[in-house]
Formats: sequence, structure tokens, C-alpha cells
Amino acid sequence: MSQSSPSAVANIGVVGLAVMGSNLARNLASRDGNTVAVYNRSPGRTRALVADHPEAGFVASESIEAFAASLAKPRTAIVMVQAGAGTDAVIAQLADLFEEGDIVVDGGNANFHDTIRRERELRERGLNFVGAGISGGEEGALKGPSIMPGGSAEAYATLGPILASIAAVAEGEPCVTHVGTDGAGHFVKMIHNGIEYADMQLIAESYDLLSRVAGHDVEAIADVFAAWNEGDLESYLIEITAEVLRQRDAATGRPLVDVIVDEAGSKGTGVWTVQNAVGLGVPVGGIAEAVFARAVSSKPEQRAAVQATISQRPQPAAPGDGFEDDVRAALYASKVVAYAQGFDAIVAGAREYGWEIDLGAIAKIWRAGCIIRARFLNRIAEAYERNPRLATLLEDPYFAAAVRDGEAAWRRIVAVAAQSGVPAPGFSSALAYYDSLASPRLPAALVQAQRDFFGAHTYRRVDRAGTFHTLWSGDRSEERVAD
Ligand code: NAP
Repeated sequence: MSQSSPSAVANIGVVGLAVMGSNLARNLASRDGNTVAVYNRSPGRTRALVADHPEAGFVASESIEAFAASLAKPRTAIVMVQAGAGTDAVIAQLADLFEEGDIVVDGGNANFHDTIRRERELRERGLNFVGAGISGGEEGALKGPSIMPGGSAEAYATLGPILASIAAVAEGEPCVTHVGTDGAGHFVKMIHNGIEYADMQLIAESYDLLSRVAGHDVEAIADVFAAWNEGDLESYLIEITAEVLRQRDAATGRPLVDVIVDEAGSKGTGVWTVQNAVGLGVPVGGIAEAVFARAVSSKPEQRAAVQATISQRPQPAAPGDGFEDDVRAALYASKVVAYAQGFDAIVAGAREYGWEIDLGAIAKIWRAGCIIRARFLNRIAEAYERNPRLATLLEDPYFAAAVRDGEAAWRRIVAVAAQSGVPAPGFSSALAYYDSLASPRLPAALVQAQRDFFGAHTYRRVDRAGTFHTLWSGDRSEERVAD
């Protein structure tokens, strides 16, 4: 392995050579025109990568100084280390070695608030900082991820072609776009992960209904998902669901899913999505219910305590003809709602943080490489092409019709789930959200009256302009309050 700090030969470098970093470095090295510098804090990882992949022609260094020296100007380094303190430590080291115009890219799963801070700090030192969300896991990093970079246009001019060379390709287009400035890329990656939570939850609810109401065995449910993957629902998550359900446990011969403890974990990006959306005032019930469903599953004491109080559970309702089609329609309609909510959160984030985000371009870069890749995303891209200023995705004629067409089935499924005692929080909350938007009048009027009663929070009237308050503790006459 090279130890002589070859000078300025690499056009791109990767710091952090655990699974994501080494796969990304190999992907970069496999593309024409790239010479890739690599460095890892523990040299063992660097040596192993270089030894295992001589074909990559890595320019390897065992000190970060040598790594920086091996990069041609403008130096461009992708940091793929543990999010949080590890990332801060590496950025600080690079910032001390890099010079004006050089580019530090954080490709980890950073909190976008950290990315905004890091970009500001590096900009003040004349350096470019790009926070790039990278989705697709280990395989995506190696074969082509979906990449969501946020940073300056100047940095993107250098970085864009390099990222385009390694990104997944959907219908001839690389799955990367300049999302916006500073934290925009990591924000959009966060929303991607939130949508991923919702998608997975809706699929899980479909599986549960097919199992507990329709009485299908796991093999039959795998067949249903495989068939759905041929239509509008075609997506990576539906495809892997069929594969997962077909997997048998070697030890017991049972379907693997039946021997897995039913407590879902999470790494926190779903929680971030909900926290930030709530802060921005955006209802993301589909994502929130998915986060909560994982949390409820992981409360074995509470589940056992409630189960101990019950002697009899509801009998499953009769599934009725066309039950599978109803579940498919409910899944599709609920999915439309979850994506509509996710895109609403992007719009609100862009407004709050001053980003100009092309929503159609985001839908396009999610069509391949990432976990939520799906045929469906073409429909979203088309919707934003028709009207970039949609008030909600549900306003678009295609999605409005899709939800309307599935509406009756969606209601039947939510009703059957409730009657059968099968939890379907994703389906139910999506339907409630749709009904809220669809209702000409909401009980929010009563809530406003209550707020005015106990807190003099005022209200507006349907028949007159202005702001009003009723003297609840006085003679209950109404007064107009200064606007
Ligand atoms: P990881 O387990 O998150 O992190 C391990 C790497 O971080 C090692 O290279 C380690 O170096 C380095 N590191 C940690 N603290 C450091 C410090 N203080 N100074 C220098 N280096 C430090 O690795 P990963 O799973 O490959 O993920 C890398 C990044 O990509 C993370 O931000 C992760 O969230 C993100 N990501 C992961 C996935 C995935 O599917 N795994 C998907 C998308 C994004 P040593 O070898 O010296 O310990």
C-alpha cells in the first residue's frame, strides 16, 4: 500500500471505510475518469480494502495529512463515518488541511440541523461543505445509490458530475440532483426515510389483514405481493416483501417471518421526520403512525398487561368477495396520502429554511437506487411537471382519481380491520386525513369556540371579516377584537 503521500493525483477521496465508505469508494473507482483516494482512522480497514480490491487502483493513505495531499484541487472528500461526533471530528481535521474552494462532503446520515451548522462553519473558513443524503444501503453504495446533495452551486459544479457517475440510473437519468443549499439534501433524505417508514407500515398492515382476516398462509400472501408488484404498486419494498415471506427458517422449517420477534426497531430518522414536521406544522400522520406502530410493538410489558385483561378477542369479520383487491386499493390510497404528506413536509421545510426545491426532481431521483424506489414515483414527477405549485399531491388529477377509485374499498378495509380487532393505524389515519381535507366543514369550529371560552383565543366568523371573542364569563355578548 502506498505510504509516500503521492501528490495530488486523486480527483475524489473517501474518509471512513466501513461498509458504506468502502462500497462507495469501490463504486467511484469503477467509473471512468475517477482516481479515488481513501483513508480510515484505523489503518487496518484501509489495508484490507486495498488488498481486497487491487483493481480499484486506490490511492491509500494512513494519515489524514497524506490523504489531503493526495487530492487534486479543488480537493473533494466524501466523509462516510459514524453520524454525530465522529463526523464532526473528521470534518474538523479536513477543515484544518483543506484550502479555499475545497469541498468536504458528508455522505452520512446526518441530522440536517447539524448540516446547516457545519456548512456555515466551513463557509466562514472559505471551504465548501455539502451534506449529501445517500440512500440504498450497502448495495446501493456499491452499485448505484440515490443521492440527495445540499450545498453551494459552486461545490455542485465540481461534485455533481462525480456523483452522477456513481448514482443509480432511472430511465436514463442519474438519481442525483442539486437539492438546495446547506441542509436541504439531508432534510430531503430524512423525509425519504420517513416515507419509507410509512410505506413499510402499510405493507405490514396489508400482510396482517390478508393473514388474520382472509386467513391466507404466508406462501399465499407472498403470491399476492408478487402479483401486486406487477401493477401500480410495483416497488422495491413490495418486491422484497414477497421474497421475505417466502423465506423458510432452516432450524424449524417454518416461514422465517413467523419465528421473528414482533418488535420493530428503528434508527431514529422516522422520529426526526415527525419531530420536524410537527415543528413545521405539517400533519404527517402516515409517517407518525408508522413510527408509533414500531414503538407500540416494542412495549412487550404493556402488550402482555392488556392481553391479560382480555378473555376474548373479536372474531375476524368475513372478508367478502374481492377482499385482496380491497386491500390493494386501501394500500395504494394510503400510500398516496403518505407521499402527499411527505412532499408537504418538503415544501414546508423549503419555506422555513430558504431552499428552492424542485419536487418533481426529488420524485425522479427516488425512482431508483433508494429504498422507496417505485413505479409510482413517475406519477409524482408527472404531477409536479403538470403543476409545480400543487397545494397537495391529492389535488393532481391522476392522484385525485386514484384515491376516488379506491375510496369505497379503503373504507371497507378500515371498517373490517376495526371490526376484526386488527390494528390498521396507517390505513385508518390516512383515510381520516383524506376525509379531513375532503370535508366542507370540520369540528375545528368547536375547538376554536372551546379555546375562546377558556383562553380568550378568539375566532373568525364565516359571515364577516375580523377577529371575535365572546365574553364567556360575562354577559356572553360578542366583541370584535382588533385584527
Ligand atoms: P458506521 O458504522 O456508521 O461508522 C464506522 C466508521 O466511522 C468507521 O470508518 C470508523 O472508523 C469511523 N469513525 C467513527 N468515529 C470516528 C472518529 N471519531 N474519527 C474518525 N473516524 C471515525 O459506518 P457505516 O455503516 O459504513 O455508515 C457510514 C455513514 O453512512 C453513517 O453516517 C451512516 O449513518 C450512513 N449510512 C449508512 C447506511 C447503511 O446502510 N449502513 C445507509 C445510509 C447511510 P474506525 O474504523 O477507525 O473505527
